[in-house]
Amino acid sequence: MSNSTNEKVRCLIIGSGPAGYTAAIYASRANLSPVLYEGIQPGGQLTTTTEVENFPGYPEGITGPELMEDLKQQALRFGADIRFGIATETDLSAAPYKVTIDGEKVIETETLIIATGATAKYLGIPDEQKYAGMGVSACATCDGFFYRKKVVAVVGGGDTACEEAVYLAGLAKQVYLIVRKSYLRASKVMQERVFNTPNIMVLFEHNTIGLFGENGVEGAHLVKRMGESDEEKVDIAIDGFFLAIGHKPNSDIFKPWIETDEVGYIKTIPGTPRTKVAGVFAAGDVADPHYRQAITAAGTGCQAAIEAERYLSEIGK
Ligand code: NDP
Repeated sequence: MSNSTNEKVRCLIIGSGPAGYTAAIYASRANLSPVLYEGIQPGGQLTTTTEVENFPGYPEGITGPELMEDLKQQALRFGADIRFGIATETDLSAAPYKVTIDGEKVIETETLIIATGATAKYLGIPDEQKYAGMGVSACATCDGFFYRKKVVAVVGGGDTACEEAVYLAGLAKQVYLIVRKSYLRASKVMQERVFNTPNIMVLFEHNTIGLFGENGVEGAHLVKRMGESDEEKVDIAIDGFFLAIGHKPNSDIFKPWIETDEVGYIKTIPGTPRTKVAGVFAAGDVADPHYRQAITAAGTGCQAAIEAERYLSEIGK
């Protein structure tokens, strides 16, 4: 992986969501001269949402793309070196750590902040793309507010789906929970919450095969007991369709060196962004199976930059 033209830096940040940009703001202000690679989706998951109304400091709300542009500009203002490029390979066996960008360029870094985020899983039906931003969402906390007094469906049977269904039930008139099996995988307490919420209707053994609507989602085509002799087509009228079938943390290239849980979330030392590799930190959704909010990601990005600064001064670099 290494060659004589490797670029050497003190702080490399991978990822450009709230965690990456916040780390860049703090690391620049601490004179670490950070280099940040934006990754596959510059601006991260928030660029796919419309209005963000729960990020403190914006009483009128702000669009996801605008928020991310603001964070980027703030990092640039303090001198962060923000570049297009995707980290494709890593060698974290010894410091300085090596990260290959776009399969070619190798960066050697004393500290590494992994802020590569997570990607919501989708069913893979074409209508999810067709109605993206027009009634399809993978984040109830972000978009639920737009469905006050409306009818929505949540797909999934795990804790996230149950939590999102209960959350949406507090806003919407009616919530369908579409579950492919005959039971919920969620914890008992979450299941009870779902069953005790009068405006949630659980549709067990239902699969979604399509969505319909003129200028946005107006309904979903479902199949009950798909593949069985008594399978049945069912259409439901809905205004919003929420995916809650899990997230995939973007941690694959770090797995040879960094510990992850069974889903792939990077394990950090509790209460810190430190990994077991000295000088390597993880911030934001890639290390957070629980909160997954822009503000919590920004908070851990800040922590990671402060940790990087302290680590560099400890090792005298
Ligand atoms: P899970 O992997 O636990 O659940 C995913 C759900 O989506 C399952 O019900 C699964 O169905 C369903 N699913 C997956 N693919 C499809 C598909 N193609 N079509 C239809 N349904 C599909 O993910 P979660 O995000 O719910 O939870 C992740 C982790 O986070 C878990 O460990 C969970 O306990 C934890 N968590 C805890 C919370 C809490 O304690 N408050 C809140 C949120 C999450 P099937 O069951 O058939 O496989």
